[in-house]
This record gives sequence, C-alpha cells and structure tokens, in this order.
Amino acid sequence: MQFADIIGRKKQITQLKEMVGHNRLPHSLLLLGKEGSGALKIAIAFAQYILCEKNGGSGSSMPSFFGEAAEPDEKVSVRDDSCGHCSSCVKVDKLIHPDLHFSYPVLKRDARHDRVISTDYIQEWRQFVFENPYGNVTDWLNFLRNSPTAKIESPQNKQGNISAQECEDILHKLSLKPFEGEYKILILWMPEFLGKDGNRLLKLIEEPPAGTVFIFVAEDENLILPTILSRTLLLKIPLPENEEVASYLAKEFPDESNINSVVSIAEGNIREALRLIQVKEENWERTIRDWLNLIVKNSVELQSKWIDEINQLGREKQKQLLLYFIHLIQLSVKAGILPPEDVPAMEESEKEFAHTLGKMCGIEILEEMAKELSDAIYFIERNANSKMLFHALTIRLRYLIKEKCLILVQ
Ligand SMILES: [Zn+2]
Repeated sequence: MQFADIIGRKKQITQLKEMVGHNRLPHSLLLLGKEGSGALKIAIAFAQYILCEKNGGSGSSMPSFFGEAAEPDEKVSVRDDSCGHCSSCVKVDKLIHPDLHFSYPVLKRDARHDRVISTDYIQEWRQFVFENPYGNVTDWLNFLRNSPTAKIESPQNKQGNISAQECEDILHKLSLKPFEGEYKILILWMPEFLGKDGNRLLKLIEEPPAGTVFIFVAEDENLILPTILSRTLLLKIPLPENEEVASYLAKEFPDESNINSVVSIAEGNIREALRLIQVKEENWERTIRDWLNLIVKNSVELQSKWIDEINQLGREKQKQLLLYFIHLIQLSVKAGILPPEDVPAMEESEKEFAHTLGKMCGIEILEEMAKELSDAIYFIERNANSKMLFHALTIRLRYLIKEKCLILVQ
C-alpha cells in the first residue's frame, strides 16, 4: 500500500511525510477519520513508508526519524513515497511484515476459551483488509461472524472487543527488538473498543522502547479513553472531495454511467460509494415512485403487496432504499431554497423527481419525512421487524403528505 493508492488527502499525507523527513515522527499518532475515509489505508501506507528500505526504515546507517527536529533552514529530503518493491514494501503490502503489528476488535471464539487476542484472527484480518479496505467495524465483525475459518460459536450473540489479553500481547510484542530494521509499528484500529484495560498501555505509549511507533486509527474521538487521547498526536483525516472520489470511481468502474449520482449520495464516504455502485442495478427511484403513488392513492391492499416485496429485500437493501429516499428529499429541499448554481448535480430523472416532491410537499413536511426515514434506518440497523416498520412508515408518510398532496407522482 503506497500513498499513491490513497484518494486525495494530499495535505495530510504531506504532513506525515514531513514528520519523517524532519525527524519529528511522534511515538504515538492518532489518525481520526469518519467511516469511509480510508484512514486505515493511510496508516498502512505510512507504515510502509517508514519501513521501506529506500527510506532507511530497515537500514541501520540512517539517522533516527525521532528526536531533534531539523532546523527550519536545514536542507531536509522528504521522499515522495515508499518504493513499492523492496522486500520490506512487499511484506507490508501482504500485511506480513514482522515489524508491522495490528490490533483490532475481535469476537470470542467459544465459551471454552477465555483468552482472545487480535492475532488469533490475523488470517481473516488480512483477507478483510484486502477485500474491504474501506470497511467499518460492523463490516469487519460481520466478516468474522460469517468466516468459515474463524469458526465462531453462536456468532450473533458476540460483541467486538479489544481485550485485556490483547493489551498484554501488545506490551509483549513491542518489548521485542525489531526483527528486520530499526522500527516496529503497531496499528491499533478502532481504539474506541479499548475499555479501561487500555490504561495498561499508557506507560508504553508515553515511553515506548526505541524505534516504536503507535498508529491509532479511529472514527470517533469521543469514544476513546481520554488518557490515551491526551498522549497521542492527533491528525484529522477528512473525507476526500467529491471530484476525487468521482475520478477514482471512473477509473475503477469505466462502464459505470451513474458515477455523479453515486458521488453526490456518498458525500465523500468511499465505503458508501462502493456499496452504491455494487447495488446500482436496483432501481430505487422507481420503487420510491411506486411507494409514493400507493401512499397517495391510499390503496391498502397494494401497499401491503409493496411492503411484502420490500420485506424480501433484506436489511442492507432496505437501508439503501431509505437512504436514497432521504437523498432525493435533500435534493428537493436544496432545489427549493438555493439559487440554481448551488444545487448539486443531479441526473435528469432525479431532477424531475425532486421537483415533483417539492411541489407535493412544503419544506417543513419534507424535513419531517426525512426524519421519519432516518429513524427507520436506525431501527433497521437494530433488527426491527421490517414488515411492521414499513407498514408504520407508510401510515406516517400518508399522514404527513395527505393534506399537502397536490399532484400524483407519475
Ligand atoms: Zn520499499
């Protein structure tokens, strides 16, 4: 994984490279980026950059990256990227470098074993990172639950955790000398899952053995132990710009015609953009038009039939449907209040639909509808009965729009 593989975020990558180039590499760094930001990819690319033989990460003759900062006028060389082909880079790329350690939330395998550490699932972790580098922690834990090799007993009842044993394992791993060069790096993904046992790491974070770098990768700083937060250097990783996501998608999916609409829904969340591309063949717009028509006509029998069909879709697609509906409502609100040049780019059919929605309901009603839909997503994520949920939602939407209904949605 090289910096060249990262979408956008040039400024943050430059900051990371300069930490190395100016000998200002902190012992503990926290990369904070929302879901879909790809902060984990950036952490791995940075680890590869530090460990690359061409950058001196595995050589013994190079000066330390830590310690005295270079003087402002001192000439420093900041390498652009890891080389990508030295033995160190190749090992990081396969996630098998002996001086690159990973820590992440895991599930207990069964009731017979108390002890569970991240390394128990390293094989599954590598596969997950290769296949879903933008995945979130729910994706990872579901991957583990469904993995035939992980063999987790009653997986649905287990919660993810970074255990006390894992903290001990980290202490042990980092007490060893580096195997290949001068540096050993631990990427701890989702420190939000570290309970108070995480305090066992404080001394290590504060006074690590020579050549040790901690890289925490987190989504929500409010859920991290304050004792850990105060001991790390925070680097915020913003979501990439829409144009950057669009050009990435255009390269990855050259046959895809709906990239603009995917990008405007995803709003920089690369995980969301990839998921939308995968299910694009679903015609959500048609489904929502049908739903609104049935609501307006108030045909209970046809509504039940529609809900039965939606019930068959499964939770993930039901969520997509509702998210797309919210997206259309937001477009409609924006089209109603913003000058035309500030309204986001839309497909022609979306534009027409947003216009019709706006004519059907006022902005207040649209906002209430969006809130109902987003509440429904919350309950779907918590395993609500989807049939009952869509029945209740249909009644609620009917109530909201019946007074305001002016025209039928064609
Ligand atoms: Zn290299």
